[in-house]
Amino acid sequence: MSRVYNFSAGPAVLPEEVLKEAQADMLDYKGCGMSVNEMSHRSKMFDDIIKTAESDFRELVGVPDNYKVLFLQGGASQQFAAIPMNLMKNKKAGYIITGQWAKKAAAEAKQYGEVVELASSADKTFSYIPDVSNLPITEDMDYVYICQNNTIYGTKYPELPDTKGVDLVSDVSSMFLSEPMDVSKYGIVYGGVQKNVGPAGLVIDVIREDLITDDCLPGTPTMLKFKTQADNDSLYNTPNCWSIYICGLVFKWLKNMGGLEVMKQRNEEKAAILYNYLDQSKLFKGTVEPKSRSLMNVPFITGDADLDAKFVAESKAAGLENLKGHRTVGGMRASIYNAMPKAGVEALVNFMEDFEKKNLK
Ligand SMILES: *Cc1c(COP(=O)(O)O)cnc(C)c1O
Repeated sequence: MSRVYNFSAGPAVLPEEVLKEAQADMLDYKGCGMSVNEMSHRSKMFDDIIKTAESDFRELVGVPDNYKVLFLQGGASQQFAAIPMNLMKNKKAGYIITGQWAKKAAAEAKQYGEVVELASSADKTFSYIPDVSNLPITEDMDYVYICQNNTIYGTKYPELPDTKGVDLVSDVSSMFLSEPMDVSKYGIVYGGVQKNVGPAGLVIDVIREDLITDDCLPGTPTMLKFKTQADNDSLYNTPNCWSIYICGLVFKWLKNMGGLEVMKQRNEEKAAILYNYLDQSKLFKGTVEPKSRSLMNVPFITGDADLDAKFVAESKAAGLENLKGHRTVGGMRASIYNAMPKAGVEALVNFMEDFEKKNLK
């Protein structure tokens, strides 16, 4: 067996300890003679899995009692529709456009109501987070929407917007559990798990209880009503059992690592290794304004598309995989999620130093 350093943006690297535990459990989960993939979602075994996952998640994050934690399907993209369908009582919401995922969410919401673009960083290819201290937010908005860490462009909000009392909804997919978060600042905070937490196809929504009502837009599918899912503890239909199980193992792993404050320190340390190198390199250049930099997704370029392609090919041959940038932006991107060890980032920087020596004209 040989494992690479996997810098994929998602689905992405998972902790080796978790994969090994899942492997050991595969044929016979805790003496029940079957795999988690084979058991009823109504069984006592699975009930323990989902309840333990939820309580570990609540403990890790510090979720207040007046918030529900839902394990839903359809990925983060399904929430782009579910959120307006559940929240747009006034049919008006504010969106801050900081990249492709916020843009997609806004486009989806436009099908259901008025979308006010509160700010955007499109003018500089989404390489920064706009000033969000005094936005044109009005009382009649049902919510203000942000994508807090922009996976493709490598930006993260240095601070949350002042929403002037309107509920904040945030997509934290690519920074989920990478650092502590204060849930009480959000109406809804949610993330697809395949970036930093677990296998694809599951999205975890943390929703303040008063936002879970029967008063959804007409025609909202039963499955997309938060109330349906909340009333049934995420078991209205068959959930993504496997992903919930693996996420549960990752929550235990995170607790063993020391929790989210420790993860934040580790992630800051890893990111600094890469950013410090980029800041002094004569060949490579980070594409994001320093104060908006993500700890998780680090895009960089040489400024020469052929050289970028050469870097991607040669790094892959050296066991550093998935460094090609998103198809819409080119260049390179290193995603250095929770499960990427510091040694992986060091190996990348060593490789970059070597590549720089050989290719700097
Ligand atoms: C990947 C990603 C999505 C889309 O996730 P899916 O689960 O594929 O729908 C949405 N938002 C952000 C920030 C992402 O990184």
